[in-house]
Amino acid sequence: MSWEERIIGVEALRPYLSNESDPDFRGLVEGLARQQSATWPMLRDAVAGLERVEYKQLSVRGSEVLAQFNPQRIVSTAAKVDAAAIKQRPCFLCAENLPPEERGVAFGGDFVALYNPFPVLPRHLVITSRRHIPQTIEGNFGTLLDLALNLGEEFFVLYNGAACGASAPDHLHFQSCERERLPIIHDIGSWGRRILSNDSRIETFTLKDYRLNALIARGNDREALIEWFDRSVRLLAEVTGAETEPMINLVATRDGDLWTLIVFPRSKHRPDRYFAEGDAKLTVSPAAIDLSGVLVVPQPDHFAKITSRDVEEIYAEVTLDGAAFGAWLRDCV
Ligand SMILES: [Zn+2]
Repeated sequence: MSWEERIIGVEALRPYLSNESDPDFRGLVEGLARQQSATWPMLRDAVAGLERVEYKQLSVRGSEVLAQFNPQRIVSTAAKVDAAAIKQRPCFLCAENLPPEERGVAFGGDFVALYNPFPVLPRHLVITSRRHIPQTIEGNFGTLLDLALNLGEEFFVLYNGAACGASAPDHLHFQSCERERLPIIHDIGSWGRRILSNDSRIETFTLKDYRLNALIARGNDREALIEWFDRSVRLLAEVTGAETEPMINLVATRDGDLWTLIVFPRSKHRPDRYFAEGDAKLTVSPAAIDLSGVLVVPQPDHFAKITSRDVEEIYAEVTLDGAAFGAWLRDCV
């Protein structure tokens, strides 16, 4: 089945739309949720399953993290993402390999928004390239901003780098979910800030003594943000010695006329405890949502035993350490 056959237009979605004669992208995405729930049992069951996930509230260096027991996510958390495994499996983001019932809404001429049948948060979308091209942010950062703008204030949009969380490193994609439960969004509004720069176009800051190192940029000028981001990524590659794209996870939101971008620079993909044996083993594989404060734990015994200290150590292990983070900030602001 091709993308042309997968993409569902306004007329076919009409029975599922609220009374809008000319819905925007956001309206179409709402209609798609109803259409897919009505016609795709796997998604309907997954959405029902999401309502039953358990949360454990943890305080990690004074900020709230929600450990989420979500057994449906084991496919992603434990996904084999090495080059050999990727080469052998059929790509699950290519049109011809999707489940027969899966439909999408076009985003521009190059992307299609689909519902994720393994959701972490409500209205979990995967916005996938129509082409099977590698996951890379270079040249695609503008799409992240455009998605945040078009989905609006109830959503956040994310990018997981090919080597640090993307379960399809060979196929360019973004994700988006409802933002209400994402702790870092609330922290940005309430936590003490260290302002790094504040020119007329972009403000950059970090959160003081926060549970992990993240750089936040805010602005309303799309071109200026792209320019700032491209430069920051180049400098991060220099600081971390990365020969290709440095390991990053990104979260973007849009409020009023402002974009907010959270950059999580990484030092490694999976923590040592992912690979440990026996009691020490913790099957967690942090990417953008996990670093933002909803840490997915698909195994029941691991969910039962995980503590605030474990999460603090895992965050410290997989994100950029203080010295390298400081060096990067000095260069890029
Ligand atoms: Zn593909």
